Parts: sequence; structure tokens; C-alpha cells
Amino acid sequence: MMDHYWTAVQKKVCTKCIDGDRYGECKLPVQFKCALKENFSSVMHVVQTTNSDNVLDYIAALRREVCSKCLEQTDGTCYVRNLLDCPLDHYFPIIIEVIEGIAKPA
Ligand code: SF4
Ligand code: SF4
Repeated sequence: MMDHYWTAVQKKVCTKCIDGDRYGECKLPVQFKCALKENFSSVMHVVQTTNSDNVLDYIAALRREVCSKCLEQTDGTCYVRNLLDCPLDHYFPIIIEVIEGIAKPA
């Protein structure tokens, strides 16, 4: 079931990502991990359990559920995020749109 969401995110996000091949395939060297891919089930949970018109509420939930557990973040700050180098953070508004655009199974 989650594959369906991941495929949709790949189409919209990985095609734009600087670490992708522009066709949706990831070219990130194996020694690096993509926070979006690694945390995808938590990202889905964040999006599907936040009901708001304000993107800041989604971002707060992301920080709480994902960033707080991510090794890149210390004391609430993240140098990867500050460099705009985290695809999960950078493309989060698109990720929200994609996940919310797919109807949940009944
Ligand atoms: S780094 Fe992440 S977002 Fe970028 S292409 Fe790879 S899997 Fe997709
Ligand atoms: S923004 Fe930073 S702390 Fe949050 S997922 Fe990305 S790398 Fe991890």
C-alpha cells in the first residue's frame, strides 16, 4: 500500500531532486541516506494525522515526529536543513500535496 504513495512521491519529488537523475531514480551515493526515503512511513503518518490549512502545523509535526529522532539534528537545529540539503524538508510542501492527493483506502 505504501509503495503506491512512494511511487507518487518519487514522480513529483525525486524528479526535481538534485540527487536524482531527473527521471525519478535516486543517484545519492550509498554512504548517504535520504531522510525522505528513510523516514517515509513516519512522514506519511505526519501528513495523514495533521489536519490544518497552515503548512506550519505540518512542519511542527515533522520536527516533532521525524527531525527529533534524526541524527543530523542537535539542539533543535539541523545543518543539513540550514543548507537546504534535506529533500524531506526542502520538498515537504510538495510531499504533503502528493500524500494528501491520494485517497486513503476505505
Ligand atoms: S535523495 Fe531522496 S528525494 Fe532525492 S532522489 Fe534520492 S530518494 Fe529521491
Ligand atoms: S531537516 Fe534535518 S533533522 Fe529533519 S529530517 Fe532532514 S536532515 Fe533530519
